[in-house]
Amino acid sequence: MRVLQDLAALVGAAHVLGAESQTDSYCVDERALYHGRALAVVRPGTRQELVRVMSLCHAAKLAMVPHGGNTGYCGGATPDSSGSQLVISLERLDRIIAIDTVAATLTVEAGVTLADAQAAATAAGLLLPLSMGSQGSCQIGGNLSTNAGGLAVLRYGTARDLTLGLEVVLPDGRLLSQLQGLRKDNTGYDLKQLFIGAEGTLGIISAATLKLFPRPRAMQTVFAAVRDVGAATTLLSHVRAQLGDNVTSCEYLSANAMAQVAALLTDVQRPFTVEYAHYVLLEWAEFGDRHGPSAAHDIEQLFSPPIADGLVLDAVIAHSEKQRLALWRLRENVPAAEKALGGSIKHDISVPLGEVAEYVGRTSTQLLARWPTLRLSVYGHIGDGNVHFNVLAPIELDAAAFKRTHGADISALVHEIAQTMGGSFSAEHGVGLLKRDLLAQYAGGPRLEAMRAIKDALDPGGLMNPGKLL
Ligand SMILES: Cc1cc2nc3c(=O)[nH]c(=O)nc-3n(C[C@H](O)[C@H](O)[C@H](O)COP(=O)(O)OP(=O)(O)OC[C@H]3O[C@@H](n4cnc5c(N)ncnc54)[C@H](O)[C@@H]3O)c2cc1C
Repeated sequence: MRVLQDLAALVGAAHVLGAESQTDSYCVDERALYHGRALAVVRPGTRQELVRVMSLCHAAKLAMVPHGGNTGYCGGATPDSSGSQLVISLERLDRIIAIDTVAATLTVEAGVTLADAQAAATAAGLLLPLSMGSQGSCQIGGNLSTNAGGLAVLRYGTARDLTLGLEVVLPDGRLLSQLQGLRKDNTGYDLKQLFIGAEGTLGIISAATLKLFPRPRAMQTVFAAVRDVGAATTLLSHVRAQLGDNVTSCEYLSANAMAQVAALLTDVQRPFTVEYAHYVLLEWAEFGDRHGPSAAHDIEQLFSPPIADGLVLDAVIAHSEKQRLALWRLRENVPAAEKALGGSIKHDISVPLGEVAEYVGRTSTQLLARWPTLRLSVYGHIGDGNVHFNVLAPIELDAAAFKRTHGADISALVHEIAQTMGGSFSAEHGVGLLKRDLLAQYAGGPRLEAMRAIKDALDPGGLMNPGKLL
């Protein structure tokens, strides 16, 4: 095919992969829900090459599938099964472009992994607060394209909130570059917002300028057993009333989520000798010397009212970075634990914070009334109102067969309850292929029409990531 020859001449033959053995890993998603086939995988080595790759594809009317770290949960980076779509991998765009310690900004190419971007900020004495379990593999371009959330949204916001500037290659190869990183710029539409969360359907993000923050002097981490889900959110309100927005994370684990992860991580000691039904990991940042050397004493004082009120049943404080990381491993490894058990029917809902307890209670009751031996693995960023309400097959049944037979009904129930409570079916994982029908079902006419109008205006040929999102 002529265009493949042109692409090889442009980026080098070694970076246009055609053999199935080479393209396979680009054609299956993180959860192995989707298996596609690519015409080829192209790996541009510079942003200029990316521009020219996309111009060539546009001229040849080739569909393009942007591919980041491939850790997304919704099949957004996977080509369809036609064998006619070109996967464009950003993996070689992995340069740190600039770090400005005065403006506190970091400018990186889209293929820089989140972990490498964090490390660059740390080396400059600053903090990039975006963080998540997949950070060793996911890329900044993927993070922005999915508007990723993660573990510190409570204080620092989502990927969208952390973005000051963006460079995007439009579907026809034109470059839209706004990497200045201005904190104030009221010159018409804020176009970068269109591409954040667009899941590669409007263009390819080639670089971004991100906000950095002062590094905290220390992090304080408490792992608490709480009476119920409502106690978790009440505890958060209490701690925030005392510490303001220094609270960075409030993560929840149900008893099942904890048991699964403890079985997987045999090298990590469980925080308590007895089992509880509900756990919370709370973390806050310390700046300056406000807490001084008596932090443990201060923390005990902070927790004494919720203990006296019966909200907190037990708690441990991390006394070292090693202990802190061990507590975080419990939370971060829940997805891996579910995978080890044959996978789960995953959900990523959000509801208003005050409704989380009601949501978890109502959904659990309705699911268990219909499928009494289901295993519920409920966990997530509860401080953001975001719960991963995951469901594992009854232990005696085959996970894949159960999912085939009952998955759709279970998900419909989980999503419908969130919807009726004013929530969202996709808090942070996006839509991709997996939730496209839900967007059509729940977005409502005018919203969907506006999204389609934007898509048609920027990508009239429908070449960007066809079939995803819309
Ligand atoms: C263990 C684990 C933990 C996770 N924890 C979290 C979490 O806490 N919070 C959270 O939000 N997510 C989480 N995720 C999901 C996932 O890591 C994020 O969605 C991440 O942002 C995806 O980045 P990626 O580079 O892997 O993107 P990919 O999976 O490669 O792509 C995702 C989408 O973005 C598009 N895309 C990728 N790069 C570009 C680009 N440069 N320009 C345009 N479009 C592009 C793709 O076409 C696709 O539609 C987790 C995943 C795993 C496996």
